[in-house]
Amino acid sequence: MTDSLVARLEQYFPAARLKTRLIDRHAYSSDASFYTLVPRAIVFPETVEEIKLLFRLAADLGTSLTFRTGGTSLSGQSVTDGILVDVSKHWPLVRVEDGGLRVRVQPGVTGAVVNHVLRSYGRKIGPDPASINAAMIGGILSNNSSGMCCGVVDNSYHTLLHVRFVLADGSVFDTEVPGDYARFEQSRPDLFAGIAALRRRVMEDASLVARIKEKYKIKNTVGYGINAFVDYEHPLDILAHLLIGAEGTLGFIAEAVLRTLPDKPLKSAALLFFDSPRSACDAVPALRDTGAEALEFMDRAALRSIEHLAIAPSFLRELPEGRFPAIWAEVKEVLEQTAGDCSPDIVLAPGSQDAHQDHRTVAEIVPTVFRDQLYLAYEIPKWDGDMTRPSVYFPLTAEIARRKVELLHKSFPSQRSRDWWDDEVFLGLARLRGMECRATYAESFHCGKFTLRGGIS
Ligand SMILES: Cc1cc2nc3c(=O)[nH]c(=O)nc-3n(C[C@H](O)[C@H](O)[C@H](O)COP(=O)(O)OP(=O)(O)OC[C@H]3O[C@@H](n4cnc5c(N)ncnc54)[C@H](O)[C@@H]3O)c2cc1C
Repeated sequence: MTDSLVARLEQYFPAARLKTRLIDRHAYSSDASFYTLVPRAIVFPETVEEIKLLFRLAADLGTSLTFRTGGTSLSGQSVTDGILVDVSKHWPLVRVEDGGLRVRVQPGVTGAVVNHVLRSYGRKIGPDPASINAAMIGGILSNNSSGMCCGVVDNSYHTLLHVRFVLADGSVFDTEVPGDYARFEQSRPDLFAGIAALRRRVMEDASLVARIKEKYKIKNTVGYGINAFVDYEHPLDILAHLLIGAEGTLGFIAEAVLRTLPDKPLKSAALLFFDSPRSACDAVPALRDTGAEALEFMDRAALRSIEHLAIAPSFLRELPEGRFPAIWAEVKEVLEQTAGDCSPDIVLAPGSQDAHQDHRTVAEIVPTVFRDQLYLAYEIPKWDGDMTRPSVYFPLTAEIARRKVELLHKSFPSQRSRDWWDDEVFLGLARLRGMECRATYAESFHCGKFTLRGGIS
């Protein structure tokens, strides 16, 4: 089957625009998602006629077409085990119209290039996916991309003015051409009537209309954009807007005209610190009222997990860290919840001698929350030099001591860049503690009090 597929494609596409070697097929087997599908061939069409031809061939051969532009999709939209149609190379049109108020685009141009062209008009496109340097118009429209600033107000769906598209039967329609509205009804009466009937069903049910409106108040790119049935009346307009977010399943987008937005010449950004996710969220209404167009929430734990990477900016490592004393009540609440969820025999936590204020806060709360358990406070070597004499020792074999160091490296990547962090510190401390309890290595703890139970005989 694959051989006949390749033979058919070779009939129409020159070698420079057709890839069928295994190495090429594997090179195109992934996008930004975690899915892998190896296409049977990759084709690079140049014209609408070739798209029509591909639809015909796919139907003849009983296989599918999947379009691809930047390949930055996160859910496997641009991988396939059928024919992969790459439109990132030959569909580059960007034409500014109406003094920058509109822009005419083809699928194979990145959002960044469109914005670059619009910049001298003080305009930009609405959708602003974080991937805009690689994401192209075909994918931006077909995924109904949005972004930090455009939200759901100026996303692909809401900024689409016109679209020219090819259906699987090879018919081409353009919402910019007034005659295409009647032509759609005449040449595809099945589709026209089907869409009109669906719209009637939606509109006759007030609770469904209200539900759809509610669901699309926030970002909703799950399934087809059925808000098109509420927002538009003519079946061609409905279909045109269903294409936005259809991930290439309803037809091929050959060209579009987008409404542009002002690209403000002066912009400012601020980095604010909050003690907890809760207080950050509480600040949202006030920040929105200042006119902020985008608010991005970055949590410390997530940043900590990447701050050791060479490409991470150094200021990440210097962000405020220890804030537990300021959120004492929240820390207590979390510990109380933990205590309610389990009944441990031993609680291991930092100790009150610890120089780090977060550790000390935890040490202060733990005995008040875990009253019936043996609480052993462990040691954390650090620059502050806060080690004191421990009272409980637990001898370790050399193998366990090394395993502990291994796990420390693995579990605290953000600390690995500290100049004192190395095997010697951890093994050295374990060796010292081992010497103190007549073992090779040991883990040691502080213990404030413990209860001995049992009868006396
Ligand atoms: C780091 C990163 C950050 C991201 N940030 C965002 C974000 O902020 N907001 C957001 O919305 N998304 C985001 N994404 C997801 C993705 O980048 C966007 O959805 C992007 O717009 C996809 O564009 P693309 O050119 O890569 O499309 P592709 O992945 O190539 O294709 C996307 C879909 O469009 C279809 N398609 C492509 N061309 C056509 C065509 N001409 N006709 C019909 N169908 C076509 C494909 O078949 C596929 O289903 C992010 C992804 C990454 C990796």
